[in-house]
Amino acid sequence: MIKCCECNDSKNLGSIITYKRKWFMCNKCGAAFSAERAIYPLSMLPFPHLKKSKDLNEDNIYDYFASKEHEKVSRINYELFMRNFSSYINNLEHKNILDISGGSGHFLKNFKPFCNYALMTEINTKAVNFANDDLKLNAVRFDFNKDSLAKVFNENKIRQKFDYVFMVACSMFCLDMSKLISELKPYLNDNAVVILSGNVAPTTGVMIRTQFDDYSYLVLRQKEALKKYFQKDFSLLRESWYQDEYTEYVLAHDVGLLNSILKNFYAIKAVRKILKQFPNTAFSSFRLRDRHLYYQVFQYNK
Ligand SMILES: [Zn+2]
Repeated sequence: MIKCCECNDSKNLGSIITYKRKWFMCNKCGAAFSAERAIYPLSMLPFPHLKKSKDLNEDNIYDYFASKEHEKVSRINYELFMRNFSSYINNLEHKNILDISGGSGHFLKNFKPFCNYALMTEINTKAVNFANDDLKLNAVRFDFNKDSLAKVFNENKIRQKFDYVFMVACSMFCLDMSKLISELKPYLNDNAVVILSGNVAPTTGVMIRTQFDDYSYLVLRQKEALKKYFQKDFSLLRESWYQDEYTEYVLAHDVGLLNSILKNFYAIKAVRKILKQFPNTAFSSFRLRDRHLYYQVFQYNK
């Protein structure tokens, strides 16, 4: 029996089909999560993005993090991040920063000269090596779905506590937020600020936009649901919906006649189903937004 990966409920689930995966939506907690389809219907056609990829796995899928193009995206990301959050980031010379799922490190590199200590964690080995060797950052490999943070920190002799924790475009890949947050607490200084940005809300548009990706988000949470994980020991400083600024990436998925036919084919079917299964819910409002992002800023109070 399929159960919601967030609340374990099995009675209130609905689903839609996209090209490469089936998405389940929970009417109890509002989360959406996906399972890969056994067969991709047009994989006989000579287009790589319509076929199952044999060479990719959850580690090397992020190898592009070390690319030039990713450096550009990281720059845009950093500028937007500072516009939103610079008022929370001050007196850095005495502060320690932890960037969870920091990618290539291009993002954290911007802070390193100004802070006391900066550390990033990342699942992708190539990106960890790039951050350590090329960018001269402190980076450790950490898979929050499998590893224990304390074990990884002990093995790497990390004894610092942190004043800032950045989790940029990260929550959608973390299956157990309560585990991650409880593992994080022993490493937080009093009044530490935790910034979660680039959180993607579950919309049909997002599920359709990512339908050709070999790996996609593991879980999409509603804004209220993510906030609940921080109810204990944290206070909410600010939260908001916002727009990001790299639409080229989003639109690349619609280029070409075949892709746009497939997009519309799956979108029309999905939206019909959503309106029937989930009338008057977060799934039915904003349904065709292909990026629906929010951020939350918390302060640790213990
Ligand atoms: Zn649920």
